[in-house]
Parts: sequence; structure tokens; C-alpha cells
Amino acid sequence: MRYSALSIVTNALSGNRNWKPVWREPEPKAEYDVVIVGGGGHGLSTAYYLAKEFGITNVAVVEKGWLGSGNIGRNTTIVRSNYGLPGNTPFYEFSLKLWEGLEQDFNYNAMMSQRGVLNLFHSDGQRDAFARRGNAMRLEGVDAELVDQAAVRKMYPFLDFDNARFPIQGGLLQRRGGTARHDAVAWGYARGADSRGVDLIQNCEVTGFVIEGGVFKGVETTRGTIKAKKVGVAVAGSTTRVMHKTGLRLPIESHVLQAFVTEGLKPFLDGVVSFGVGHFYISQSDKGGLVFGGDLDGYNSYAQRGNLPMIEHVCEAGMSLMPAIGRARILRNWGGVMDMTMDGSPIIDKTPIDGFFLNCGWCYGGFKATPASGFCFAHLIAREEPHPVAVAYRLDRFEKGYLLDEERTGAQPNLH
Ligand SMILES: Cc1cc2nc3c(=O)[nH]c(=O)nc-3n(C[C@H](O)[C@H](O)[C@H](O)COP(=O)(O)OP(=O)(O)OC[C@H]3O[C@@H](n4cnc5c(N)ncnc54)[C@H](O)[C@@H]3O)c2cc1C
Repeated sequence: MRYSALSIVTNALSGNRNWKPVWREPEPKAEYDVVIVGGGGHGLSTAYYLAKEFGITNVAVVEKGWLGSGNIGRNTTIVRSNYGLPGNTPFYEFSLKLWEGLEQDFNYNAMMSQRGVLNLFHSDGQRDAFARRGNAMRLEGVDAELVDQAAVRKMYPFLDFDNARFPIQGGLLQRRGGTARHDAVAWGYARGADSRGVDLIQNCEVTGFVIEGGVFKGVETTRGTIKAKKVGVAVAGSTTRVMHKTGLRLPIESHVLQAFVTEGLKPFLDGVVSFGVGHFYISQSDKGGLVFGGDLDGYNSYAQRGNLPMIEHVCEAGMSLMPAIGRARILRNWGGVMDMTMDGSPIIDKTPIDGFFLNCGWCYGGFKATPASGFCFAHLIAREEPHPVAVAYRLDRFEKGYLLDEERTGAQPNLH
């Protein structure tokens, strides 16, 4: 079923009784060409592009809960491509270009809104670092503007420009950055994959792998063993737990990240503002709620919930950036589990096991990567060679020392 203005009108006239379910609920088959483990954004987009771009449709996505129950439905929805390292910029720009045509591509309203992302700077040193990043972006053809304090004042007059500790001097602006509705992205990819023949199997946890003589043969699940020629694991915060079943240890730690939403307010914040030194970033959803977050909780965990000290820290940071936020009431907060790598960059690569592919290490920035990650992972699985924009995301870079440390914080995962 194709969604269009005409289909809305005709379905309204027939009492909305003829809409089809957005995807089927199939029983798992005994065997597939490819099994994708994890029905989050990256798993679903991989299945979608495997079918759409590479013609591989005998595919199952196996999800332990419901589609979108992980980080894809828990993030703060920011998309951008303001990365400065040569290994990162082309990948994230490829992703942003896919975002720009995504809703037409999968015929689903993901509420993509290019409202601009502004990263504030508060010192001369930080301005130089952002100028360098902006220049690196422009050299790759990506939009970036270094704006001064007067320009930021014009955009967001309610920020605390004269904060004693972090006076705002300006910011790096990417106008093409913005937000998209996170769970609609999962649903759009799910629908697109399902309509091309991919089986989306919910409530089916992968409990082990069948590996014979170093060759992948199938997955063991709570609904039986499923044979497959290839497997792609895309389980984000559960990566180390799932990969432990293969005996492969990874340079990843799992950490909790929390997010917050206030009551609905009249529109006043029409872009995304990021206050990196204070560990705070904020946007306003189309429903009016302020959506914001901050730093990781700072300890290793697989629990999808955070703790009170970080709530206090994030609220303090919010108050020092925009004191008016103290008048808003927080309605909800939640946590998600981040797969933090030692250099803050992801992994899209083969593993030493034949037919076994890995997609992980998205840290707290994997939502924006969802389209390119799925496209590049599908390319790797189908062709067994990396997509040109994802060649830097090799697993052996940790062994060989070619780290991709965008934030230049060193090999400490909870600092990226
Ligand atoms: C609070 C918060 C804010 C964030 N904000 C942003 C942001 O603004 N911008 C941005 O770019 N990124 C952001 N992120 C990061 C982003 O959400 C993640 O990097 C990205 O969603 C991870 O990829 P995914 O969607 O595939 O993960 P998930 O949705 O977590 O998918 C993994 C899936 O694997 C499933 N799974 C796990 N184990 C098994 C198993 N054994 N068998 C079967 N299935 C299994 C899980 O149930 C889950 O559904 C944020 C994250 C959080 C938590």
C-alpha cells in the first residue's frame, strides 16, 4: 500500500477500515540467505537496503523485543554531518544526503526537519577547533558556518551569553542538520523491508550462533535454530553480550545515556543547540516539548535506565545555558545503552568468522548514521567489501593503532 494524499482521503471516506498492517508477523523460516540480528534502526535499514539496492530479499531481521524498542526509539533525534576527520566526513555526509531523500524513498513520513544544528563555543581555543572542523567540512563540500556572538544572539536571544564560566562567543552552524522522528524512521524502514519480502521476526532473541570450523551456519534463537549463509549483527548497546557468544572480545564498553522531555510549550526554539563544554543539548519537538540530554551516566551498564545524579547534572547545565528552562516541568526521562568504542567511531566490518559481519560502536551518535550505516552494512554483506565511505570503520584499527578519534579525547570510551 502506497501512502499518498489520495489514499488518506479514500480511506477516510471508507471509515479507515481498509488500511493494511504496516508489516506482516511471519513465522521464522528454517533458512535464509541473510539473518540480521537486531531490529533497531541499523538492523532495519540494513535489511531495507539489502533488498532495495542489492536484490537480496531472502532476509530475516530477528529482534528480541519489538521493532524500535532499543535506542532507535530512545534517542534525541538529532541528525547532522558536522564531522571533521577524513574517515568520518564523507560517511556522515552520505548519511545526511540519504536523510534528505528518505521520506520519498521509503514513502513514510519521518518528520525530517532541517532546522539547523548549532554547536556553541566559549573560548578562543574552542573557536579555533570549530573553525578547523568547519573548514575540513567545507573542503569535503559539506555546509558549515562559523557564526559570532551577535549572530547567535539574533537566533536565540534567551541564552545566557554572559555566563561567568561559559560566556557564549559564537558557534559552528550546520543549517542542513536538524531532527527526524526517531521511531517513524524504524517503522519506515520496517515497512519498506517487509514490502520487499524481508521477514521481520519480533520477540525472538538470539541466544547463540552455529559456527562450524570457523564458518557461520546459523543462529540459535528463543524460537528455534535458523540456518543462514550470512549473519549481520547490529545490536548497539548489547553488542558485547551478543558477540561474547562467539568468543570474540571487542573494544567496546556499554554505558547509559539519558534523555528528557518537558511539557509542551509554545514554539520558541526552532533549531538544535549544543552546549558541549557543559554537557547539554536541546531542541523543541513539533508537539512543543523541550527534548534535551547531556553526558553519559559514567559507569558500565546494560540497564536501559539512568540515575539521579546525572539528571541533576543535566538540569544544572540546562540552567546555565538558558535559565528560562527552570520554569518548564519535565514530563519524562529515560535511558538507552550506548556501545562506546575506544575512539568514539563505529565498526562496520567482517569478523574473523566466515559469513559473520558486525555493525556496532555507534556511541551516542548512531541515529544520524542510520541510513548510511544500513546502506554500507548491506554493501559489505552483499559484496563482501566495504563501501567507499566506510573503509575507515575497520575492526583491526584498534589492534593496529589507526584510531579515528573525532573528539580527540584519547582511548577512553566514556569521554566520546
Ligand atoms: C538518550 C539517547 C539520546 C541519543 N541521541 C542521539 C542523537 O540525538 N543523535 C544521534 O545521532 N544519536 C543519538 N543516540 C544514539 C542512537 O540512538 C544509537 O547510536 C542508535 O540508535 C543505535 O543503533 P540502533 O538504532 O540499531 O540501536 P537499537 O535501536 O538499540 O537496536 C538494537 C536492537 O538489537 C536488539 N537486540 C539486542 N540483543 C539482541 C539479541 N540477543 N537478539 C535479538 N535482538 C537483540 C535490541 O532489542 C534492539 O532493538 C542517542 C541515544 C540515546 C540512548
